[in-house]
Amino acid sequence: MTGFVDKWDELIDWKKRWASEGDFFVQQLKDRGVEKVLDTATGTGFHSVRLLEEGFETVSADGSAEMLAKAFSNGQSYGGHILRVVQADWRYLSRDVHGTYDAIICLGNSFTHLFSERDRRKALAEFYAMLKHDGVLILDQRNYDALLDGKYGNSHTYYYCGEEVSAEPDQVDEGLARFRYRFPDQSQYYLNMFPLRQDYVRRLMREVGFQRVDTYGDFQETYQDDEADFFIHIAEKG
Ligand code: SAM
Repeated sequence: MTGFVDKWDELIDWKKRWASEGDFFVQQLKDRGVEKVLDTATGTGFHSVRLLEEGFETVSADGSAEMLAKAFSNGQSYGGHILRVVQADWRYLSRDVHGTYDAIICLGNSFTHLFSERDRRKALAEFYAMLKHDGVLILDQRNYDALLDGKYGNSHTYYYCGEEVSAEPDQVDEGLARFRYRFPDQSQYYLNMFPLRQDYVRRLMREVGFQRVDTYGDFQETYQDDEADFFIHIAEKG
């Protein structure tokens, strides 16, 4: 995994990725008057650094100490930011992270890493508990419905991969989506993910208490279900 992370970070140009994402997340947060954000899936720091650049008070959590170390040094390189990092598993978030937040983000297709429904419910309940009464959760996921239903064309590229990294489904069924990532130096890595169906995630969000869940396809409010590569759920607590 370390090799994968380093390669990924080397090749994915943050400035290009910021450009391809536009100001969708930032605008969603600003429209709601958000000040304090908890990034629960910091990874190598892409979203945390963007939020700091935009002036949000940001706490950066991740289950992996190694990722947080990388994020911390990326923060220093991109704009001299000092990230406030906390190692925390989503399932026990409130034990390790203090306070409540206007917004919680879980981005970069991260929620797919939980393989049991119990863990998914637990994580969402922790996110819910750590939000202020009018707080918002923003969580994205790859469009697994298209993949599971055989509607995933070959032309799809991971929206921030650029031309250089290819991500192809290797094996897909209702319990597992395994992707093969190929890098320009011919190296390849396999990653296992849980294939989340869009409506299933929306249902779990409502079941843990979120009052309203809006889903966007590739950052658009109107989208064709089988054409979007990514879904972004915006779940409101109050
Ligand atoms: N948001 C970043 C991005 O888009 O570049 C990073 C996303 S990375 C695909 C997923 C991150 O989720 C990893 O850094 C991993 O350590 C973290 N993660 C996975 N399961 C977790 C869990 N149960 N608790 C906390 N972090 C977890």
